[in-house]
Amino acid sequence: MFDSLSDRLGGVFDKLRGRGALNEQDVRDAMREVRVALLEADVALPVVRRFVDAVTEKAIGQDVLRSVTPGQQVVKIVNDELIEMLGGEGQEGLNLDARPPVVVMMVGLQGSGKTTTTAKLGKFVREKHGKKVMMASLDVNRPAAQEQLKVLGEQVGIATLPIVSGQQPVDIARRAMESAKLQAVDVLLLDTAGRLHVDEALMGEMKAISQVSTPTEVLLVVDSLAGQDAVNVAKSFNDEMPLTGVVLTRMDGDARGGAALSMRFVTGKPIKFAGTGEKLDALEAFVPSRVADRILG
Ligand code: GDP
Repeated sequence: MFDSLSDRLGGVFDKLRGRGALNEQDVRDAMREVRVALLEADVALPVVRRFVDAVTEKAIGQDVLRSVTPGQQVVKIVNDELIEMLGGEGQEGLNLDARPPVVVMMVGLQGSGKTTTTAKLGKFVREKHGKKVMMASLDVNRPAAQEQLKVLGEQVGIATLPIVSGQQPVDIARRAMESAKLQAVDVLLLDTAGRLHVDEALMGEMKAISQVSTPTEVLLVVDSLAGQDAVNVAKSFNDEMPLTGVVLTRMDGDARGGAALSMRFVTGKPIKFAGTGEKLDALEAFVPSRVADRILG
């Protein structure tokens, strides 16, 4: 995860740390290299600018350069700004604080990993929050999507809403709500249909589902390998239908980190989870300080 970004930044900081004294020009030179590394990692330009400006100002403006270990202090400033860029201290967990069944609606484009993530999250919520979970697939566009969730549900031991062929997404959502109430389910995960692009038909369907199910969480699942495209998809979704958070999938294969580093600043929405593999337990709560540690090695 983040290997290439981490290598690039590591090289810059080793140089800084290795020097006893630092002057303003050293900092500016290092920041020029950081800028290139971030752009190559596909971090959005405004985010790169803000980051480099903030680090430069703090490193030059304070007594950092006159201190005994200036290199290390600059790296500490970088670490703090990275955490800020990733979403700040602490961690934005799931909000399950509503009258049950609490609805978590999963949205995203086709192939983003949405159905797999729904099953992973179901397992996570049952194990980490100790809740009774049910899942329902509202994807009537892709043949076998509902069947796929059922099979995944069996693998993780979580009930799925029985499939009734020919039903429309909104009707399935209503049926899922009724069934969840009858069975005293705490958390209902709705896996919605994906399309190749964010379009009117997709957003219309999402809004209709949201109206009948009043979700507490609307989580967008996006592929981190898509870099800035992932961030643009998040922006388009959020413009149409307010998200409560983002799940970044395929972080295990993401050497660059552009989506993770740009998402919060560009969309204003927290990354709540990271998908880190194909297995159904490969889902991690997204903790900015831990991710920053990984990037800085
Ligand atoms: P959907 O079309 O958005 O529902 O996508 P799927 O859930 O069917 O996932 C598509 C593929 O991506 C499957 O082969 C998943 O196993 C894989 N996948 C999903 N999340 C991750 C992840 O975090 N890491 C890796 N390596 N693969 C993932």
